[in-house]
Amino acid sequence: MLRSILRALPLRCQLCHHRLEQRQYPWCETCSQSFPTSPRCMQCGLSTPYTMETCGRCLNTPPAWDNLVCLGDYTFPYDTLLHKFKYQGHYWLAPPLARLLAESIDEPAPCLIPVPMHWRRRWVRGFNHSTVLANALASQLERPCLDNALVRTRATQQQQGLSRKARLSNLKDAFTVRGNVPSHVALVDDVVTTGATLTELCRVLRAHGVTKIDIYALCRTPTDGKQKK
Ligand SMILES: [Zn+2]
Ligand SMILES: [Zn+2]
Repeated sequence: MLRSILRALPLRCQLCHHRLEQRQYPWCETCSQSFPTSPRCMQCGLSTPYTMETCGRCLNTPPAWDNLVCLGDYTFPYDTLLHKFKYQGHYWLAPPLARLLAESIDEPAPCLIPVPMHWRRRWVRGFNHSTVLANALASQLERPCLDNALVRTRATQQQQGLSRKARLSNLKDAFTVRGNVPSHVALVDDVVTTGATLTELCRVLRAHGVTKIDIYALCRTPTDGKQKK
């Protein structure tokens, strides 16, 4: 499956459009050398002066999860690649992006769970990008992917017309756990911004007996310095 997808990769770099010498990734050697790699806090995933297990921010306000692994900030080239994957239907970008992310994951969680999307939104977009990504990553890490372990039960319609604050508090009880979930899981999302959704998902999982939660995300949006909920 993965091999057939890789064989179907384009002949030109998705970033600079030069002809690809190798077909391992859909971007060229030169572009891949310019991919930003900045040290991060291993818990919140935010950029730090050097790699650290827990930054000052996490000491003050620990995130709801235990570890966060990401490729980098939501800037070039990740934003370009993600936009193609998410909004232009370039599903085939999921395996190479997942392979890149897998290189940063030393001890994978026993199972992966995608951040759920409400069925109405999935119906409009045609697919849940987190599920596609989680499955690609799971096959890279040789771990099972529990597609339906988390379900979004609250209709998006109920969220409409609410202020941002009300919308965030409205996330409460918007998700439910289905079936048995191991005590250590990894949640997979494309971009972590405020982390509000992940925080609520962690609360639901912990209430279900989960004790360790890793987050695997492609990008982490830098915050304005405040710990947003
Ligand atoms: Zn290139
Ligand atoms: Zn931190």
